[in-house]
Amino acid sequence: MRYSKTYGEFGDSYVPEMLQPALDELETAFLSAMNDKSFLDELAYLQKTFIGRPTPLYYAENLTKKLGGAKIFFKCEGLAHTGAHKINNAVGQCLLAKRMGKKNVVAETGAGQHGVATASAAAKLGLGCNVYMGAVDVKRQHPNVFTMQMFGANVVSVESGNKGLADAVDEALGFWIKSLKDTHYLLGSVVGPAPFPAIVREFQSVIGREAKQQVQELGQDVAAVIAAVGGGSNAMGIFSGFLDDEKIQLIGVEGGGIGDKYGEHAKRLAPNSGAKTGIHHGYKSKFLLDSNGDVLPTHSISAGLDYPGVGPEPAYLKESGRLTMTAANDDEVINALKLVAKHEGILFALESSHALAELLKIAPTMPKDKAVIVNMSGRGDKDIFITAPVFNKQEWVEFLSNEIKN
Ligand SMILES: *Cc1c(COP(=O)(O)O)cnc(C)c1O
Repeated sequence: MRYSKTYGEFGDSYVPEMLQPALDELETAFLSAMNDKSFLDELAYLQKTFIGRPTPLYYAENLTKKLGGAKIFFKCEGLAHTGAHKINNAVGQCLLAKRMGKKNVVAETGAGQHGVATASAAAKLGLGCNVYMGAVDVKRQHPNVFTMQMFGANVVSVESGNKGLADAVDEALGFWIKSLKDTHYLLGSVVGPAPFPAIVREFQSVIGREAKQQVQELGQDVAAVIAAVGGGSNAMGIFSGFLDDEKIQLIGVEGGGIGDKYGEHAKRLAPNSGAKTGIHHGYKSKFLLDSNGDVLPTHSISAGLDYPGVGPEPAYLKESGRLTMTAANDDEVINALKLVAKHEGILFALESSHALAELLKIAPTMPKDKAVIVNMSGRGDKDIFITAPVFNKQEWVEFLSNEIKN
C-alpha cells in the first residue's frame, strides 16, 4: 500500500482543531487495519459476496471494429452492487468504522449516489446511517432518497444556505463534531483532509489490481487507461494498478459542460479550466474560485462530476506530468453514451460516458495491437430522468403524466 498525507504541495489536513484528534484516530485505525490479515480477509469476503467482485473486464468487440484502432476494454464497475464503484469505498469504510468501535456513520451526498452506497453498506454491516442532503437535491433525486430510506438510513434534508451539497457538507460535519465518539464520517471520494484521500484510494484500488491482472491474463498490451474525474476516486482506483508502468498513458476526463466561462463547466485540471490552488473543504488542491477565493458554482450534465474541487493526488499527478487531463462537453457525452449503447448494448452512467467521449477521439488513432481500458464507473439506469428527455422529451412527459394519472 502507498500511504501519504501530502501529494507534492497538495493534500494535508486543514480542519478545526477539535476535529484533528478524530482524523488521527482514523489514520491509526486505517494503518493498523491494512496490516491485519483478518480485516483484509473480511474485506475480500465482502467484495466477493456482497459487492460482486471481481467485476468483468469486457472486450467491446463491436465498438473496436467500428472505431478501427486499439482494442477497447471496459472495466465494468457498473455491475457492482448499487451500480457504481462507490460501494467499494463505502464497504471498506464501514468495516473500518466497526473496527474503531463506532455505531454510526454519517455522510453527505449530492445527487445521492454516495448516500445510496453508504446506506447499503451500513445496512449490511449493522451500522446506523445518517445522510445529509441539500433540500434542493432531496426534491430532484427522489428515487435515491427512497432507496436510502429502504436501506434504513435517516435522510436529513438540509434547509440552510443554498440547500445544496456545500450546505449538506457543513451540516454533516456539524453532526460529526457532536458525535465523534460513536460516529465515523464516511467521505465518498479522494478529497477532504488527510487521511481520507489515501483511505478512499486504497479501497478503490481493487479496481486497478483486478484490471491489471485481467489484461495480463488476456495477454493484452495496454497503451492507455481512461477514467472520468469528479473528486477522482474511480480514476485513482483504476490508475493505481498502472501508475508504475510509465509506458501506459493515464487520461482523466472532466465535465466540460456547455462552455469555458465560470459556471458553465466543472474543469479543474483540464486545459482552460481557470482553476486556482486553494484550501477548501479541509485540504489543499485545485479549485474553481472567484476573486475573493470562494468556490464557484459548476455545471456538468452528470451530477457526479459537478464539483468545484478535485482530489490532491490527481492534482499532483497532473502537475508532475504523469496524468493527462482533458474534458468532454455535454453534447459529446450524450453522443458517446448513445453510440456505445447502440453498438454494445451497454448503458454507461453519464459520468463514465465522459471517458467514452475521450475514447472515441483517441482509439481510432491507436494501433490495432494495443489495448485501451475505459473505466465504466457506473451504469446508466440512474440517469434515465436526465437522458430520456434529451432523446425524446414528448414521450417522456407523456409517460410521467400517465404515471401520475394512474
Ligand atoms: C460519483 C461518481 C463519479 C465521480 O466520482 P469520482 O470520485 O471522481 O470517481 C463517477 N462515476 C460515477 C458513476 C459516480 O457515481
